[in-house]
Amino acid sequence: AKADGRNRIAFYESSMHQEVEDRLALEHDMSHAIGTTQFKLQIQTQWDSAGRVVGAELLMRWDHPERGRISPDVFIPIAEESGMIVRLGDWALQETCAMLLKIKQTGKLYPLSINVSPRQFRQADFVKRVQQIIQQSGAPADQLIFEVTEGVLIDDENGSIDRMTELNALGLRFSIDDFGTGYCSLAYLKRLPLYELKIDECFIRDTPANSDDAAIVKLILAMARQLNLKVVAEGVETHAQAAFLTQNHCDAMQGFLFSRPMAISDWLDNKKA
Ligand code: C2E
Ligand code: CA
Ligand code: CA
Ligand code: CA
Repeated sequence: AKADGRNRIAFYESSMHQEVEDRLALEHDMSHAIGTTQFKLQIQTQWDSAGRVVGAELLMRWDHPERGRISPDVFIPIAEESGMIVRLGDWALQETCAMLLKIKQTGKLYPLSINVSPRQFRQADFVKRVQQIIQQSGAPADQLIFEVTEGVLIDDENGSIDRMTELNALGLRFSIDDFGTGYCSLAYLKRLPLYELKIDECFIRDTPANSDDAAIVKLILAMARQLNLKVVAEGVETHAQAAFLTQNHCDAMQGFLFSRPMAISDWLDNKKA
C-alpha cells in the first residue's frame, strides 16, 4: 500500500508538472499569436420574444496551429494572469468597432456587447485606451456594451463608478455578466451606473422544471424591472425556457435554441440564425 501511495504521489507530481509546462507553452505561443489570424471573434445574436434581433455578443476564439481550437475558458485565464489580456482586449475592441461601422452602413441599429476582463478594467489607463480606440475607429460608442462581472466592480466600487461614468459620457453602456454567481449583496445594483444584467446560464439550465431556479429567474426579472435595468438570459436551449422567459417579460435571450456563435463574415451576410 505504501508503494502504491508513493506511485500515486509521483503520478500527481508529474501530471502537475505537465500542467505547468502546458500552461507555459500556451503562454509563449499566445505572445506570438496576438495580432495574427489565429485569434478571431465570433458573434452570437440576442433575440427578443418577438423574434427580432436586439443585439449580439462578441466571443473570442483561438485557433492554435497544432492544438486546434482552444476554449476561451482555457486561454482567457492565461491571458489574464500573464497580462496579455490587455493587448488581446484592445484588439477585440478594435475589431468590434470596425463591425459597428459595418452594421451602421447597413442601416440597422443594435448594440454589440464585448467582454471586458477584470485585469483590463482595472488598468489605470483603461478609459484612455478605450477612448483612443473608439476615436481612431470612428465607431458609434452608443452602440457598444461592455460586459463585466460583479466582482471587479465591487472590489473598488468608487473607482468603478468613476470609470463607468466617464465611459457612459462617451455613450458606452455596462452589463453585469454571469449575474447571480458572484455576490451575495445586491446593494451595489442601485449605486453603479448600469444598463443591463445577464442572467447566468446556471439559473436558466433547469428552469422552469426546477422550481427553485425558476423562482430565482423570476425574482431577478422583477427586481431588474424595478431598477430599470434590461435583462438578457444566457444559455437558452429549450422552448420551455424561452416560453418561461417570455411570460416573465425578459428583454432578450441568447442561446443555442436561437443561434450559435458564428463567424463574423457569415453574420454580416445576414445569416443570423
Ligand atoms: P460568457 O461571457 O458567459 O459567454 C457565454 C458563453 O456561453 C460562450 O462560451 C457561449 O458560446 C456559450 N453559450 C451560448 N449559448 C449557449 C447555450 O445555449 N448553451 C450553452 N451551454 N452555452 C452557450 P464561450 O464562447 O466558450 O466563452 C466562454 C467564456 O470565455 C465567456 O463566458 C467569457 O467569460 C470568456 N470570453 C469569451 N470571449 C472573451 C473576450 O473576448 N474577452 C474576455 N475577457 N473574455 C471572453
Ligand atoms: Ca459575456
Ligand atoms: Ca455570461
Ligand atoms: Ca459564463
